[in-house]
Amino acid sequence: MRLIMNKLFLALLITAFLLTPQTVIAQNQSSRPVYVVQEGDTLYTIALRFNLTVDDLIRANALVDPDTLGVGDQLAIPGLEGISGILTSQIVPFGENFFSLTRGYGVPPDTLIRLNHLTSPAEVYAGANLILPQPEGEQPTFKRAGRTAGFTLLELSAQQGSDPWTTLSVNRLEHSWQIVPSQSYFFPASDEQPGGTGIHPSLESITVKGMPLEQGRTMVVDIRSFEPLILTGTWNGQPFNFFSEEDNHYAALQGIHAMLAPGLYPLSISGTLGDGSEFSYEQMVAVQQNYSFLGNRGDQPEKLAVDQSGLDPTINDPENEYILTLISISNPQRSWNGVFSVPGYNREWLTSRFGSRRIYNSDPKIYFHTGVDFEGGTGLPIKAAAAGTVVFAGPLTVRGNATFIDHGWGIFSAYFHQSKINVSVGDRVEAGQEIGLVGATGLRLTGAHLHWEVWVNGIQVDPLDWLNIDYP
Ligand SMILES: [Zn+2]
Repeated sequence: MRLIMNKLFLALLITAFLLTPQTVIAQNQSSRPVYVVQEGDTLYTIALRFNLTVDDLIRANALVDPDTLGVGDQLAIPGLEGISGILTSQIVPFGENFFSLTRGYGVPPDTLIRLNHLTSPAEVYAGANLILPQPEGEQPTFKRAGRTAGFTLLELSAQQGSDPWTTLSVNRLEHSWQIVPSQSYFFPASDEQPGGTGIHPSLESITVKGMPLEQGRTMVVDIRSFEPLILTGTWNGQPFNFFSEEDNHYAALQGIHAMLAPGLYPLSISGTLGDGSEFSYEQMVAVQQNYSFLGNRGDQPEKLAVDQSGLDPTINDPENEYILTLISISNPQRSWNGVFSVPGYNREWLTSRFGSRRIYNSDPKIYFHTGVDFEGGTGLPIKAAAAGTVVFAGPLTVRGNATFIDHGWGIFSAYFHQSKINVSVGDRVEAGQEIGLVGATGLRLTGAHLHWEVWVNGIQVDPLDWLNIDYP
């Protein structure tokens, strides 16, 4: 009997242990909101986000050992009277703004302001990291619709299969005059009218993949629509193209420049419908520093001694301009499928990463490494990273013997310093096909290696992403 009791007690003890949050939270603070610790958080960054000190957090949570804070732990947050429930941090997706978040998450505007110390709705940009309350219980399904200027609340509601009273209540509005043109609103979803984006009624979804954006990464804008559209976009003022392989599904790929200063940049999408009517939407999107560029040298640029003529602008400028014409072709036929394959002889023989800052000789200009380098002596095979069409194969002064392959949709790969070129312009190549041999031709290099680049709509990106991520 005693044995059974002991076993029962042990079982209860284990259950109680499993149910206890990993971090001890003062039990009498249940009315306080609770923050769920995310990847990358420290007690210091959490305190900073809530305008608290580390001591405030330690005291509010009776933390014995602050160093044991782990992802998923729950911390009571003091100083937020009137707010309760679970708080998480989230990246604001493209297409969401202050007003749509307050409605979509059912968060009263003043709660969103207090939680994030906002001074202006403009601080809620795409890619911003916001504190949001986790919705409690079962959420009714809502669809969103863009507001067409000139419609009354009654017309708008009827159009969406709702009524004015439901529209006001779902959107947490008290008066019809609070409906503002150009904002999007929520309506009860139905089978006949599924959810949308709120940007325009013709759009089912807009997804920007790769958020939060970082220097040297590849951004994908994926759009699904309810009807055929002609879409165009611009990133930081530069146009990009949408491509399509199935009805009402479009994708655009855009490189984020490795030297683009961290900050906010405009992403805009424009569409034309079958009846000729148009819409456009623009939002500021955050670009973050890419810390992988720093490597183990800290933020000190790598110093390289090269042939001085490799830096001569009268040689470089015309070659750079010529390359821009090569990689500006917009080929609607996508040739690649899945991740790219390693073009070098050995994947492990990577000697220099993309994006690292460089200084050549005594030139004061800071360059960045525009590709990755594979070590391996003259004569080793170079293989096409993906299927495509050769658009250049021949000698260049600075880059040496080079091959450029067009993979479609504005994606190009390039291979430099070759001792031998095996392909010609117009050739169709397959992934893994030998296209030439490693060499030391060209001016801006210190020894035989393969320099490999990937271009995404006119911008060089980190090629390693293309070995790991299945774009689009
Ligand atoms: Zn290189």
